[in-house]
Amino acid sequence: MRTTGLPEPPPLGAHALPAGTYEGSTVFVTGGGTGLGRAIAVEFARLGAAVFVASRKAEHLAAGEEAIRALGARVASAPCDIRDPEQVAAAFDACERELALPDVLVNNAAANFPVPAEDMSPNAWRTVVDITLNGTFFCAREFARRHLRAGTPGSIVNVGASYAWTGGPGFAHSAAAKAGVKNMVETLAVEWAPYGIQVNGLVPGLFPHDDMTEDIKGNLARTSDKDVCQPALRVGRLRELGWAATFLASPYARFVSGHTLVVDGANWQRRTLTNPPVVTVREQMGRGPFEG
Ligand code: NAP
Repeated sequence: MRTTGLPEPPPLGAHALPAGTYEGSTVFVTGGGTGLGRAIAVEFARLGAAVFVASRKAEHLAAGEEAIRALGARVASAPCDIRDPEQVAAAFDACERELALPDVLVNNAAANFPVPAEDMSPNAWRTVVDITLNGTFFCAREFARRHLRAGTPGSIVNVGASYAWTGGPGFAHSAAAKAGVKNMVETLAVEWAPYGIQVNGLVPGLFPHDDMTEDIKGNLARTSDKDVCQPALRVGRLRELGWAATFLASPYARFVSGHTLVVDGANWQRRTLTNPPVVTVREQMGRGPFEG
């Protein structure tokens, strides 16, 4: 029997939702200038949304703006470190001033790099948790406060990771933070549904892209052929994640809230009858013996 894996999706530019689904809507995307955030932002723009990009680096903001503008959509951006609630509020002010109060918040920004837990510095731990968990909360809170004041509905999509459930050897900081993000989806969905605010999670599987940090790229390079390591026999295509995000935040998913949707070709459910030999994180990363 041939094993061909999961079929390729429709081409870039196709969309499942009706054209103009987000006409008149504004979408605020943290980290929307790179990688998955930009791919998600682009799919919202393709469906008519105006997009606001928030992150720290000017070159990332410019790249995000360029990708959205190329589609003929309205776009604006502001530098923002999501760890700082005041900068978050200022970015929302800029979004309201230049576009509108965002109807959708995509909490995509996060930080990550692989490191054996025994080598992880307190600063590394704090930084990743601060960006991924605290920053996500500060943005969600800012978005909700503004909608509660205005009496308007809204939708939040928090980008997570499947090691929120399974643990993530080599990524203790990020896995713990993403577990917090998933839990936060469930809490906030209940707290804010009475005000018309949906809160969902979106978990990408492996979606390689050129903006990945050298650390992460290096780690992937060591698992030489990514496709055969996936049950789908392929990695994710960026547009597949964008389509999932635009569905979750759309009028067609209004009754979906508190849910975390995993888009990973079943990789996180993978179990084997015969497990391969254990390789420590140190060995996977080509590190020598612990000398701390
Ligand atoms: P990425 O390319 O490294 O992008 C991270 C983004 O977050 C950047 O645009 C960065 O922009 C922004 N950011 C980082 N720290 C920030 C801060 N303190 N304040 C504001 N913005 C900040 O990551 P990615 O691979 O596209 O991943 C996007 C999301 O998907 C993340 O939540 C990640 O955990 C999740 N994910 C990705 C994969 C994958 O295969 N790629 C798999 C599972 C989960 P600045 O540098 O300009 O601030």
